[in-house]
Amino acid sequence: MNFDPLLQPLDLGFTTLKNRIMMGSMHSRMELLDRPYERLAAFYGERAKGGASLIVTGGYSPNESGVIETGAPVFDNEDELPEHQLVTDRVHAEGGKILIQLLHTGRNAKIPQPVGASDIPSRINPCTPHILTSDEIEQTIEDFAHSAALAKKAGYDGVEIMASEGYLLNQMLVERTNNRSDQWGGSYENRMRMPLEIVRKVKAAVGDDFIVMYRISAIDLVEDGATGAEIIELAQALEAAGVTLLNTGIGWHEARIPTIAYMVPRAAWRFAIRHLSEAVNIPVIASNRINTPEVANDIVASGDAAMVSMARPMLADPHFANKVAEDRSEEINTCIGCNQACLDFIFTGRVTSCLVNPRAGRELEFAENVSLQGDSKSIAIIGAGPAGLSAACTAAERGHKVTLFDASSEIGGQLNLAKIVPDKTEFYEFIRYFKTHLDKYGVDVQLNSTVDAATLGNNFDEVIVATGIVPRIPDIDGIDHPSVISYLDLLSGKATPGKRVAILGAGGIGFDVAVLLTHGKSTGAPDTETFLQKWGVDTTMTTPGCLAASGPQFPPPAHEITMLQRKPKSLGRGLGLTSGWVLRAELDAAGVKMVPGATYQKIDDAGLHYSIDGEDKLLEVDSIVLCTGQDSNNALYQQLTSAGIACKLIGGASEAKELDALAAVSQGLQIGGSL
Ligand code: FAD
Ligand code: NAP
Ligand code: SF4
Repeated sequence: MNFDPLLQPLDLGFTTLKNRIMMGSMHSRMELLDRPYERLAAFYGERAKGGASLIVTGGYSPNESGVIETGAPVFDNEDELPEHQLVTDRVHAEGGKILIQLLHTGRNAKIPQPVGASDIPSRINPCTPHILTSDEIEQTIEDFAHSAALAKKAGYDGVEIMASEGYLLNQMLVERTNNRSDQWGGSYENRMRMPLEIVRKVKAAVGDDFIVMYRISAIDLVEDGATGAEIIELAQALEAAGVTLLNTGIGWHEARIPTIAYMVPRAAWRFAIRHLSEAVNIPVIASNRINTPEVANDIVASGDAAMVSMARPMLADPHFANKVAEDRSEEINTCIGCNQACLDFIFTGRVTSCLVNPRAGRELEFAENVSLQGDSKSIAIIGAGPAGLSAACTAAERGHKVTLFDASSEIGGQLNLAKIVPDKTEFYEFIRYFKTHLDKYGVDVQLNSTVDAATLGNNFDEVIVATGIVPRIPDIDGIDHPSVISYLDLLSGKATPGKRVAILGAGGIGFDVAVLLTHGKSTGAPDTETFLQKWGVDTTMTTPGCLAASGPQFPPPAHEITMLQRKPKSLGRGLGLTSGWVLRAELDAAGVKMVPGATYQKIDDAGLHYSIDGEDKLLEVDSIVLCTGQDSNNALYQQLTSAGIACKLIGGASEAKELDALAAVSQGLQIGGSL
């Protein structure tokens, strides 16, 4: 494919960006670790080396009241400039440019006393904000300008003024959060005053040869948010105030519409970006769920945006841009939108990483391409799920001779089941990535090969067993009844459920199975029009917040579903923080009944008999799908060790409890790098 549009330089007058690929800002929490700036220099340096023309750091507050959480970084002190210079020097040495993001979180700050335009608390932070006085607003504007001046001294190429996602500057703009009656509230002109003053003061502090990027909310997706016309009015005023680049954000963090998780179709928000691009003359940057070069290139080629911002895709693959430029886009490790190791880690107090690339954020611990210390070995890996695939690719890349066996006719293990679930089709990309690398590094892949001790003999220096899991069959009277189906048989299409279905178990697989059953079948990649209509988005952008007057429109479910679990807690608590609520909302809209605290008694022709708090109940269903967890499939390991063949165990075969693809990939990476 011709990626010329994406690879074209972007001339900003006083400086030129070498291509249209930007690494967008992501909080990493690396600032809270030891050697934070050494880590950040390695992290951003690798992405600059990978060809991104512009990088935006995670958010730094211009003052103490705007931090994301207690202990999060503030950028207001001259003494810290040498540490920032470690980062800027490294990025420049690798041929990139870097902006520092200036972020005031306003009422979203997780600190004892957040501040806000008004005293209206946020849906995601119940703390009542202190109302900023007019003097405090003036001081905050000065603080932004001071931080921008420091950024220039530290060697940054510019600043991004973060004003989307429902943070302070977004809060100033709309009546949802701004009910002031002074010069900072009331008319739209007054509500725009603070962001515009910040841009003017920042420009005055840094001059015209410094990038001033403003991240505007291209669509708010909250009640009483901005209309499309208001967004345009602000964008044009920002252009007049001297903004160099207009980056975009989609939806407030408290929006009840998913904006970046895997169920959002690729480039779903393009219409809102186009709406801005058509109204201003400065370059507009598209963001959110842009994860492949094809999608990115199409956005730029069509003129919907001048540039694309990718944050999570740069965690997944720091070398994204170079791979595009060198005609190696098949080798890109694609962000699958799972949020599991990036946003979910951040929101649960951990340092960001990536499911498909666990090296991300741990560049100091896992050097790239660890070269072989001793002789090349002959290595057998049994099981081509994510654990085995990751081990095979890592070991082969280092120069070992690897043979990968799998009993199945395709690589991927359980990823092949995950990819069938509606909206989870990005898992195809992860399998494609592994396939490309198995070929590239010459791994001998032996499919349809059920391995036993005789297959292996003494032909290998090292044997790694990655045989995954077996589904757990609970001990319930009548478990052999014909109405009982395992999730494996359901997902692989071997069993067809009836109209009324009970799902036993409400972990990630139970929820995935419920989503599949509401759709009735595997539906392929999510479709933008259906998605926007389903979640009630006003694509004409005329209503406040661009929420459709008719509200969400979920299609009727294909099955009547009841989900049960033994724990007395609400179902789905263990799901990812940033995607679990979406699944719960979808299933709620589909009328799925949730039953916690169930004791299963028996299964017979009448259905499922269970009790709650000692009270007997009967659920009349046609089918019962078992999603009751998994146990390790370590039979081969035991057989091999009994036969005197030394082997190592990874992935689900080693420990099924709390195993997910992230753990499997990480273990594969570790063992592949240690052989
Ligand atoms: P597996 O993926 O189970 O692979 C084991 C492989 O070993 C299989 O290919 C099997 O054929 C092969 N094998 C077994 N015995 C032999 C033998 N004797 N000889 C040769 N080959 C053998 N995890 C997430 O993190 N996020 C998700 O969103 C997610 N969604 C999921 C959705 C579904 C529907 C399912 C079923 C799972 C999902 N998971 C998800 C879980 C994730 O897929 C597993 O944790 C992961 O695949 C485990 O990896 P593994 O390599 O240990 O084992
Ligand atoms: P899981 O999260 O451990 O859930 C297993 C479910 O089965 C629980 O609801 C449990 O609830 C129930 N259960 C366990 N033992 C049982 C027994 N003996 N009898 C009856 N019920 C029993 O595992 P999973 O859903 O199988 O998922 C496997 C892995 O894949 C997990 O690590 C998961 O994170 C990962 N995954 C992730 C996603 C995602 O979107 N992030 C999606 C799918 C899978 P009770 O004990 O309360 O009954
Ligand atoms: Fe993308 Fe998932 Fe990696 Fe986050 S963890 S960057 S969503 S692949």
